[in-house]
Amino acid sequence: MIAFGEEGDLHPHIALVSSSADGAAVPLVRVHSECMTGDVFGSTRCDCGQQLDLSLDQIGAEGGCLIYLRQEGRGIGLVEKLKAYNLQDEGMDTIEANEALGHQADARSFDVAAEILRTLGMLEVRLLTNNPQKVKELEENGIRVEKREPVVIAPVKENEAYLAVKKAVMGHWL
Ligand SMILES: [Zn+2]
Repeated sequence: MIAFGEEGDLHPHIALVSSSADGAAVPLVRVHSECMTGDVFGSTRCDCGQQLDLSLDQIGAEGGCLIYLRQEGRGIGLVEKLKAYNLQDEGMDTIEANEALGHQADARSFDVAAEILRTLGMLEVRLLTNNPQKVKELEENGIRVEKREPVVIAPVKENEAYLAVKKAVMGHWL
């Protein structure tokens, strides 16, 4: 586990590098954005927790690295995310709620993940993601995505609508 941040940073980005990574194979990489509700508490409002678990299993088996970026709530932070959840309970979808609070639908940036991968010497990766934007941003920042590996998760009742918006509006491969 390697921490990346400014000196004294209380919330550094994290890289978990699998010791089964061997030099020959193209490493399997997941760039995961922090989601306390899903990752820690197993919320089914989103699919983050399941994506994290699946990625860790696969990376552990095949070798590679999980980068944990501290950009909670697609970059708007935990408190704003909880406010957005309240708006969603009143009928807005995930994008409308963010916009009603004055935020972008997705305020995340993946540039720093490319920097971390460069530091780790992983210039060519197999990327575990359903998000086309992530592939694009890594490639724009000098990381070659040799292959995209899908993260396949069956929807549950609580996240069906959320996943449908991700697919239809944000173009995720689901
Ligand atoms: Zn989440």
